[in-house]
Amino acid sequence: MRIFDPHIHMTSRTTDDYERMYAAGVRAIVEPAFWLGQPRTSPGTFADYFDGLLGWEPYRAAQFGIVHHCTIALNPKESNDPRLRPVLDLLPRYLAKDRVVAVGEVGYDDVTPAEDEALARQLELAAEHGLPVLVHTPHRDKAAGTRRTLDVVRESGLPPERVLIDHLNEMTVGMVAESGCWMGFSVYPDTKMDEDRMVAILKDYGSDRMLVNSAADWGRSDPLKTRAVADAMLSSGFSDAEVETVLWDNPVAFYAQSGRLDLSDVKPGDTYAGNSIQRGAPRDR
Ligand SMILES: [Zn+2]
Repeated sequence: MRIFDPHIHMTSRTTDDYERMYAAGVRAIVEPAFWLGQPRTSPGTFADYFDGLLGWEPYRAAQFGIVHHCTIALNPKESNDPRLRPVLDLLPRYLAKDRVVAVGEVGYDDVTPAEDEALARQLELAAEHGLPVLVHTPHRDKAAGTRRTLDVVRESGLPPERVLIDHLNEMTVGMVAESGCWMGFSVYPDTKMDEDRMVAILKDYGSDRMLVNSAADWGRSDPLKTRAVADAMLSSGFSDAEVETVLWDNPVAFYAQSGRLDLSDVKPGDTYAGNSIQRGAPRDR
């Protein structure tokens, strides 16, 4: 079984996670730019973060046989800090880079005017750069937030097939299915979706335009939840081909719209900018 996790924040994870993910079948991931738990206070820290998503993290993933791409954006939560507005001006430089396969995560956190403005601007940037968009939906008042998100996406004129609306649940899946956008589900250990609810949604809505991710980050989360969904699908009667559609073909099809998805075999490099993930000389080499 091969798995593509279309939304995972590996910067917050360890090499043990990479090892376990590889053992579970994960061969490709996309790491969206997001917030880091503690608010940042200056645009320069975003440049360093984006550089890490394009440099050190793909290098680290490659050491474990996993292909890493990323999405770049000013996230909804931090777009409320006026000190960070210049990040929007940094984005064009990053959206031109080879391993950037979408604009994201954009969307709403608290649904403020500042979030409105950042979202609209970044949807424009996606159109200008010919990139798909990964849209986060708010955790509070999710139905209203998702409805509003879909309105804004519609007004932007972006084709729905280039937009992925993420963190959906039973309440919001229907309206996104109708919109023509792709549907993303984050499967967490004890909040939002779990694997059995995910399987029930796949039974109701089919596998078309459906993406499943672990959204693992610095909070309580599990990078193996993609595999847990695959196993739950198989034990409830889905075929190997249906599992492959949801956990590999769909994320590939969505991000391939960037024209930049490169899944040719990764070869672990020796070092990245002179640094390696080794601690001292490896044994028996
Ligand atoms: Zn995320």
